[in-house]
Amino acid sequence: MSGPILLPGATGLNGSGQQTTLGVMGGGQLGRMFVQAAQAMGYFTVVLDPDVISPAGLVSHYHIKSDYLDEQGLTQLLQRCAAVTTEFENVPSGALVTLGAARPTAPSADAVAIAQDRIKEKAHLARSGVPVAPYAVIETAAQLVAVADDLLPGILKTARLGYDGKGQVHVRSHADLAAAWDALKNVPCVLEHMLPLAAECSVIVARGWDGACVNFAPQLNLHREGILAVTEAYEGNMPTALAEKAVAAASTIAEELNYVGVLCVEFFVLAEGSLERARLGALVVNEMAPRPHNSGHYTLDACDVSQFDLQVRTLAGLPLTQPRQHSAAVMLNLLGDLWLDGATPRWDKVLALPGVHLHLYGKLKASKGRKMGHLTITAATPEQARATALAAAQVLGIAPF
Ligand code: ADP
Ligand code: MG
Repeated sequence: MSGPILLPGATGLNGSGQQTTLGVMGGGQLGRMFVQAAQAMGYFTVVLDPDVISPAGLVSHYHIKSDYLDEQGLTQLLQRCAAVTTEFENVPSGALVTLGAARPTAPSADAVAIAQDRIKEKAHLARSGVPVAPYAVIETAAQLVAVADDLLPGILKTARLGYDGKGQVHVRSHADLAAAWDALKNVPCVLEHMLPLAAECSVIVARGWDGACVNFAPQLNLHREGILAVTEAYEGNMPTALAEKAVAAASTIAEELNYVGVLCVEFFVLAEGSLERARLGALVVNEMAPRPHNSGHYTLDACDVSQFDLQVRTLAGLPLTQPRQHSAAVMLNLLGDLWLDGATPRWDKVLALPGVHLHLYGKLKASKGRKMGHLTITAATPEQARATALAAAQVLGIAPF
């Protein structure tokens, strides 16, 4: 990319008398928050998503309702926009190749293709200077039989299309493993050794076209049933040495990929005294997401620049500044489970608590495990943020943490 994409003037038109429009592949909640950040800076937005009603489509200036590989849809998108980003990693990388040939596209098709495939991803993450979980690739019956005993117990994960713990089966024995691979229809998989976790954390970095890289401090994440439930973001949420190591690894991963855009890298912190920790060290890289991440939603309310602001800036070639967190924060995910018995969550009681920011994504149907929104609780101190978050969780029937 040669220079920044013209910021629109007061009329929404740029210096060439045209609307400056940014595009996003995918219409989910991440796309919605990208669109909102872009619009706050005066850009017009266009979303491509086949769903007639989608969280991002509902708030965008334009919504192209086509399949991700539909040629006409992609052509319309290119006609509308000056640059394109993506909000979920399962956008076919072929679509990004087409887009990337015509417009600045970030992240690139290459980077997304790696993040889409656990087999390619593992090979890449291994170069970060932090180990990955011991694993085996399973694409053939011979590889299944050859799995070493010390990888068990483990988790069999499909190489592609998994999210929120979907496409994963816990296995204890070789017999379990064979049954699990059949249940997953014998698609390419990785078997990962089940690690004893003390905690999980993630680091979000943003890297520009010029290689400039900024980051948020590591977030501490609690998953329940494979889905992110709680993120705690404040100073002292994890030991400084581990935090520094995680930031260095995430930055290295972005650099090695020649990545442009927002990237999230997830880590495991291994249980003290465990054999695995003695062997691998305290920190293990889990996976990466080539986009803003659920664990970074708190940045909207607790930081001077959010992960979505940085997505806009990286895409448009605007300067990046190191984000500053001004409040301690706890984020609670609002899953469809909260609506299931037909009741509406008591937002009146939750919003009566100090420093509560409610974000709902405009999804019309709740289902178990579906991400409907999130709450960020900001406060002057970590203790206050935690106490208020626990009070909000109690009102909503979310288990304490
Ligand atoms: P997803 O793409 O669904 O987020 P992950 O690989 O991140 O898949 O797995 C989801 C969650 O399952 C993790 O955040 C962690 O809590 C648990 N998990 C995954 N792999 C392992 C492992 N090797 N050892 C222990 N727990 C794991
Ligand atoms: Mg994950």
